[in-house]
Amino acid sequence: MKDFQIGWEEWASFPKLGISALKIKTDTGAKTSALHANNIRLAGTAKNRKVIFELSPDVQQPEVRILCSAKVIDQREVTSSNGASELRYIISTSIKIGPKTWDIEISLTNRENMAYRMILGRQALEKLTVIPDASFMQPELSYEKYKKIVKNKPSFGSLKIAILTMSPKNYSIKRFIQVAESMNHEVDVINTKRCYLNINSRNPEIHYDGVALPHYDAVIPRIGVSVTFYGMAVVRQFQAMGTYCINSADAIGSSRDKLAAHQILVRHKIPMPDTAFASSPKDTKNLIALTGGSPLVLKLLNSTGGRGVVLAETSKAASAVIGAFQGLDANFISQEFIKEAGGSDLRCFVVGRKVVASMLRTAAEGEFKSNLHAGGSGSPIEITKEERDIAIRASRVLGLNVAGVDIIRTNDGPKVLEVNSSPGLEGIESTSGVNVAAAIMKFIESNVRSLRSIK
Ligand code: ADP
Repeated sequence: MKDFQIGWEEWASFPKLGISALKIKTDTGAKTSALHANNIRLAGTAKNRKVIFELSPDVQQPEVRILCSAKVIDQREVTSSNGASELRYIISTSIKIGPKTWDIEISLTNRENMAYRMILGRQALEKLTVIPDASFMQPELSYEKYKKIVKNKPSFGSLKIAILTMSPKNYSIKRFIQVAESMNHEVDVINTKRCYLNINSRNPEIHYDGVALPHYDAVIPRIGVSVTFYGMAVVRQFQAMGTYCINSADAIGSSRDKLAAHQILVRHKIPMPDTAFASSPKDTKNLIALTGGSPLVLKLLNSTGGRGVVLAETSKAASAVIGAFQGLDANFISQEFIKEAGGSDLRCFVVGRKVVASMLRTAAEGEFKSNLHAGGSGSPIEITKEERDIAIRASRVLGLNVAGVDIIRTNDGPKVLEVNSSPGLEGIESTSGVNVAAAIMKFIESNVRSLRSIK
C-alpha cells in the first residue's frame, strides 16, 4: 500500500461506525489519530468494552449527529498540540480513503473548535505516502446524505446491508432496497451462488467476483428451496464474520425441512394437523391409518409454494401417490386433511416477537391449496389472540426472526401448517396495507444497534 498516495486533507469514510463521509487532515506530528466525539459513554461488558458516542461530521451542520459505537482497546493519556494532556478512550475501527480500507486506532476527544473533525496520525499513515502540498488526491465524498438525517436527534448512522438472493428483480427485493434507502442505509444485492467462501479461523471471508466482500452490518437472507444447502453455508459464513443475519443458517435449515420443523414444533406443544413419516414401502397402510385414513394430504419434504402437496381422496389414491413418491426416493409426510378449512388458511407475517401483518388466503375454485402462487387469493383478516400467539411461538422455537407462519383453522382450533423463512412481501403488503419491509428494516436497525452497543 506504500505506493498509495493521499494529500494532506482528504475525504474518508468509516464503514464500521456508519460514517459515510468525513473530511480529515493528516498530522504527522501526532502519533495516534483523533476523532471528534460528544457524549461519550461506556457500554458492553468488562471483557468486551464498547464505547458509544455522537459525532457531527459536518462542521457546517453541527445539529446533525450520528450515534457511533466501537470496541475500546485502551485508555491512554494523550497530549494534544496545545500541550494539554487528557485521558482518552482508544478505539479500533476501519477507515476507507479512495479504494483502500485499513484498520486504525483512534482516540476520542472533543474537537468542536477545530477546523477538522479528525486528524490522521503517523500510525495510521505508516503504510502509505502523504504528499504534503497536495489536497484531495482521492475521490471526494459528500455531506449531502446527512441532510436527510433528522436534525437534533442522534441517528445511528447508515447501515450497510446485504440481501442474499437469486432473484434480484423480485418485488420483495425491490421493496427492501426502496425502504432501506429511504431510511438512509446502503444496500447491496448479492447473488447467493456467486459467493465463494474462505473458511479459516483467523479471517473468514466471502469473495464475490474476485474480491473479498466488505463488512456488512446486516444480511437479509432470501434463500430459495433450490439453493438451501449453499445458501445456508453463505449465511453461516456471514455469521462467522460477525455480521447480523436476520434469520440464522440453522433456523433457515430447520424450517425448510418440513419434517424437522414439525418435530421441533411438536416438541414445543404447538398444535399441528396429525402427521406421519415413514421410509419403507411396507408401512404404507399403517402410514395412512396413522393420519386417520383417507382423505389425506401428502407433502414432499422440500417443497414450497404448494408444488409438492397432493390431496389423496381415497386410500387407493393415497397408496398410489405414496408408491410413486417412494419409487422416486423422495421423502414425504402424510397429514390429516382439514376439510373444514374449505381451502383457506392464514398467513401470519412475524417480525421479531410480533405478527406485523396477516391475511386470509383462499384457494381457487375446485382447489384445496391456498398458496398465492397456486392461484389462491388474499383478503384482509383479523386474527385471534390464540392464532397470534401460536404464530409467534412457532417462529420463536424455530429460531426465526422473520417468518411467514401458515395457520389452518380447524374444528379443534388453529394449527400450524408451515413456517416459511423467506416469506414474500407482495401479497401480504398489498392485502394488509402494512409496510412489512419497513417493519423488517426497523427490526434490523434495533438489533444492530444493540449488538453494536451491548456486545
Ligand atoms: P407449501 O410449503 O408447499 O406451501 P403447505 O404445507 O403450506 O405447503 O401446503 C400448501 C397449501 O395446501 C396450504 O397453504 C393449505 O392451503 C393446503 N394444505 C396443506 N396442508 C393441508 C391439510 N393438512 N389440510 C388441508 N389443507 C392443507
